[in-house]
Order: sequence, then structure tokens, then C-alpha cells
Amino acid sequence: MTLHKVIGAISAAAFGVLLATSALTQQPLRIFDAHLHYNQEPTPFYEVDKVLEIFRRNNITGIIATSRPNKGTHQLVDAKAPRLAVVPFIRPYRTRSDIQTWFDDPAIWELIQSEYQRGYYRGIGEGHIYGKAAAGEQVQRIVNFAVEKELWLHMHCDEEALLLLFGHNPKARIIWAHTGFSTSPTRVRELLDKYPGLMGELSYRGGITEGGGKLSADWRALFGSHSQRFLLGSDTWINERWFAYDTIMKEYRAWLAQLPPEQARRIAHGNAEKLFGKVE
Ligand SMILES: [Zn+2]
Repeated sequence: MTLHKVIGAISAAAFGVLLATSALTQQPLRIFDAHLHYNQEPTPFYEVDKVLEIFRRNNITGIIATSRPNKGTHQLVDAKAPRLAVVPFIRPYRTRSDIQTWFDDPAIWELIQSEYQRGYYRGIGEGHIYGKAAAGEQVQRIVNFAVEKELWLHMHCDEEALLLLFGHNPKARIIWAHTGFSTSPTRVRELLDKYPGLMGELSYRGGITEGGGKLSADWRALFGSHSQRFLLGSDTWINERWFAYDTIMKEYRAWLAQLPPEQARRIAHGNAEKLFGKVE
């Protein structure tokens, strides 16, 4: 072999290593989906296998599993899918109409108590609650129960309700579904600073990106100081969200890629794994 050929062989080998390394780094960031519904009324649109396939192709390695009724969550737990951490939350709904009444319906308190007996739940939610409805006696009982049993609350609520929830028990740990939708980033920052048990989940959250998918200055700054306080979610509340699942995750990855990598990793999966553990 001439020297020239040797050099050629070495650089070809080095190039191969380079290719392999870049293939590895191009593996999309793993995502923990912290707002997922596998609803079935009375049957799911997708079978469990199909749902697991959707997770696999999007590199989803963890989910907060909820469903209406809770049967869908039982199925996701029972599937024992490899490389998927399933973190079950008790959904306080049997049918869609429970959204309006769950917070003071004694049957829902009973539902929470009986589901809890399964022993694997890590939280309660997603529950919808607005304004003074959160002041009710049953809501207080649910918040105290969650604190006592070290359960998270996953709440779709306005700011007034959020403050009432923490007012019931300042030790509450709350995932704020949609992070208030449109609450100003300044106010979100204040709330995160005031309540150490608050995490913001970002599905449907407005203002994160502006024209062309560019991360807005406000949110870049908020992630810069509070990247340890946010989670991502698909919010598959209707079948259309399952159809859009790949796009939703692609959009998340597009703005995550504009953040410093350690911030992106926290938001994509690190924070959720810290709270709920991870599967190797
Ligand atoms: Zn939801």
C-alpha cells in the first residue's frame, strides 16, 4: 500500500466514524409526553398496539397515562411496553359530561378512592376547574388526599382556580395543563417562583413561537431561567390529536432545537424523568 492509499484508507475510516456519530446525534431527542389521553367511549379509536407504535416512531419514552374511563390507562399499564415508562394518573371522569360536575360529585370521590386501590397511580387528572369552583369542599378533600398520598394533580385551570388549589394545601404538587394557555410569561414566572410544587405543561400554550416557528424572546428568557419547570404533552383529547401526533412532536422538536441542549433535554424528558423515573 502506498502512503497515499494508507492516508486514503484512514480518512475513509475516520469519515465512517463521523457518519456513525452524526447518525447517533441525529437520533431525535427522546420525549416524555406529560399530557396524554387514551380515551375510550366506549371503545378506543386505536388499539393499544397502534398507540405504542405511534410512541415508538416519535421516540416517546415516557407518558402520563390518563383515559376516560380509566380502562384505557389500565390497558397501557398492562401492555408493559419495552422502553416506555407509563405513569398512570387517575382520571376523575367516566364520561365527557363529568368535566362539568366532577369537583362536587360524590361519585367521583368514590371513583378516585376505588381507582387508587390499584396501587400504581402517581397522580390525579387531568381535571378541568375554573374560578371559584375550586374553592369547594370536595376539591379541598381531593387536594389533601393527593398531598397525603404523594400524588400529583394534573389540572386544566385558570389562575384563580390554581391559587385556590394551592390555598387548600400549599404542599400540593400541580402540573398546570397548558400553563394557563395565554397567561403572560411574566406572571407564569411569578407563579413558578411562588409555588415550588408547580410544573407547567406546554400543549396548546400560546406565544412560545412567533412567525416562522422562531422561539419568542419572552419564552426563550423564561426557559433560560426556568427550564427545570416545564413538561411537554400531546393532549390527545380527540382523535384528531392522534392523527396530528407526529406533527405535534415535530413542532416541539423544532423550537427545542433553538434552545441550549441542556434546557431542551430537561423540557423534553429530563424534568419528567426526575419526577417519575425512567425506563432504560
Ligand atoms: Zn387534556
